[in-house]
Amino acid sequence: MIIPRAGHPISRTLISDNALKVLYRLRDAGFASLLVGGCVRDLMLGHEPKDFDVVTDAKPEQIQEVFRNARLIGRRFRLAHVHFGREIIEVATFRGNPSAQPVNPDAEHDGAIQEGKVRRAPAADANVFGTQEEDALRRDFTINALYYNICDFAVMDYVGGAQDLNAGVLRMIGDPQLRYREDPVRMLRVVRFAAKLGFMIEAATAAPLRSLGYLLLEVPPARMFEEVLKLFHGGYAAETYELLRSHDLFRYLFPATDQSLASESDGFPRVLLPKALESTDARLAEGKPVNPAFLFAAFLWEPVRQQMERLTGEGMKEQDALRHAADEVLHDQQRHISVPKRLSFPMREIWEMQLRFTRRQGRSAPRLLEHKRFRAAYDFLVLRAQSGAADPELAEWWTRFQEVPPDGRMDMVRALAPVAGRPKRRRSRRRPAARAPD
Ligand code: ATP
Ligand code: MG
Repeated sequence: MIIPRAGHPISRTLISDNALKVLYRLRDAGFASLLVGGCVRDLMLGHEPKDFDVVTDAKPEQIQEVFRNARLIGRRFRLAHVHFGREIIEVATFRGNPSAQPVNPDAEHDGAIQEGKVRRAPAADANVFGTQEEDALRRDFTINALYYNICDFAVMDYVGGAQDLNAGVLRMIGDPQLRYREDPVRMLRVVRFAAKLGFMIEAATAAPLRSLGYLLLEVPPARMFEEVLKLFHGGYAAETYELLRSHDLFRYLFPATDQSLASESDGFPRVLLPKALESTDARLAEGKPVNPAFLFAAFLWEPVRQQMERLTGEGMKEQDALRHAADEVLHDQQRHISVPKRLSFPMREIWEMQLRFTRRQGRSAPRLLEHKRFRAAYDFLVLRAQSGAADPELAEWWTRFQEVPPDGRMDMVRALAPVAGRPKRRRSRRRPAARAPD
């Protein structure tokens, strides 16, 4: 079906200048030249696209001949990145032969290949070019398979995407079972789009999620990490989490967390996690930065806390117990979602500082305030207090403590009730004679 310019809302003023440049240049070189995927979907809905993807019938080498600023990427399926300063326009050749798809057809998109984590060797037929229609059929959902043609400004629809877009429906192209088996990440994508767009998942597309969720265990952890960031840093984390739970997919992302949710009796984590996700969404809505370490610290806190409790119950010191618990939980989690060091390190700091917040005597409180992870750890404490898992008085104290001028801080510390059972070290050291047994 072809929707002429008058029948759809996509205007060139909504398309980035660089994307337009690429589209015109390909067209003028005699090639097919279209926008496709998320950007067309978002433009049709009146949303601002995140980025612009271009498709053409030009082969990668021909694309490179047209653009001096193009770099070919991807081993399995080569495509071109056209660089304009910080903006990159992705240009791909129409892909065909959906039946010969590898399990991980879009690994090139998300860095999995670049990070060397894709397990299977490149197949000889990896670069299978096709017609535009074949290209449409190998995409995931109908609403993601619309094309905007720069030659006549029409939208081209091979799979009923425009109708589904109007109806607010997510529908898999082809047989959903088969398509999820081809690439299990599509199970996460359908949930992500449902949350982001507020769309319904059509019944046959939703049905296999419950029974095929386990296939996510086969996805390389590096690719899972990328997908999880997209799931929870897209501005709809709270809704996404609810959908993942209701389709029984969450347990394949964070198994230990899922178990801790089932086993806990007091309900804290059930509240803490949604609260953490709501605050992530709120920050993104205000244009504030979000930190993946905070997100992962929130996801894994409950299993870490439960394991720590077991270890202290066996007589281990609190700090050692936390370190052991963190090691264990992170180790198990890595089998599902790789957590890079640049995250696991600050995560541990956020957790360790939860213990340090309760020790406010002497110089420790002002020192903690200077810690570079103070802000994230304090936000985490507030979340714990709000969900009933930490003393609200403690969180309030730290809130006030940050606000008093530096020379007033020690007064706040001195005003605290002395910690029971701990001798004042300084004095007893100065008066050795007083230590004689009485
Ligand atoms: P976003 O707004 O999150 O970027 P998007 O739809 O653009 O959403 P991308 O991951 O950027 O998603 O992919 C671009 C397009 O590539 C999709 O719209 C879809 O047509 C196709 N695609 C991406 N991943 C897959 C997949 N796993 N299986 C089939 N098609 C896919
Ligand atoms: Mg995109």
